Amino acid sequence: MRKRWFSLMAASLLAGVAVLVPAAPAMAAPTFKVPFPCGQTWSGQTRSNHSPAYAVDFNRTDDLGDPVVASAPGTVDRVTDLGGSSYGKYVRISHAGGYHTYYAHLNGFNVSVGQAVGYGKVIGWVGSTGGSTGPHLHYEQRLNGGDIQVRFNGALALYWGTKNYTSDNGCSSGAGSGTVDTSGTPLTVRSGPGTGYAAVDTVADGTRVTIQCQTSGTTVTGTYGTSSIWDRIGSGRFIADAYVYTGHDGYIPGVPRC
Ligand SMILES: [Zn+2]
Repeated sequence: MRKRWFSLMAASLLAGVAVLVPAAPAMAAPTFKVPFPCGQTWSGQTRSNHSPAYAVDFNRTDDLGDPVVASAPGTVDRVTDLGGSSYGKYVRISHAGGYHTYYAHLNGFNVSVGQAVGYGKVIGWVGSTGGSTGPHLHYEQRLNGGDIQVRFNGALALYWGTKNYTSDNGCSSGAGSGTVDTSGTPLTVRSGPGTGYAAVDTVADGTRVTIQCQTSGTTVTGTYGTSSIWDRIGSGRFIADAYVYTGHDGYIPGVPRC
């Protein structure tokens, strides 16, 4: 293919015909996420008199000191304190494709220049430094230095106005797993997280199960002690965690609550 392309181009040049060389496609934007930990909801405000115009100011109740996390994987390229003006304490992260994100008016820093960061990495804490009159996070996305309209998971932020954004930044995608251990008898599968829910099935001792999420329900004493944790192993299918070997005494790290 390559050879034919060049000979076609050579032939075209010889014939004095312009050859349209396709431009390299623009690199896709990183998937930016709300710059707060998984599950948190923040009010994001845009306004046309903001500087720069497409920045988003984030707030929630009692937000002073709340953690701010990296919007997308990248490398921290600025950790700067401008003192009592402008951004005050701010972090800039460089992402693939010429994109940058800015996190301003921070109370403090949790990263240093040159550090690689991923989703959910705490980079600093919400503050009111610089030219800020109250705690909030001033957040920007830029492309090749220019202010661009903010997108989260590819969806454009509200321009102009105030809207709630719920973070899925750093949320575990993963299910957990465990092994049913009843010392012999089949374990009852119930329709909800408790012994008061209908028995819908059983799983044999020794069965390996995928745990979609975990929740609190009836306290059960089983092979692994006493626990109120129930594991959802399917739609409308719950088993008592006290009979499941997961390698963890409480909730499995990274597995979501149901
Ligand atoms: Zn702002």
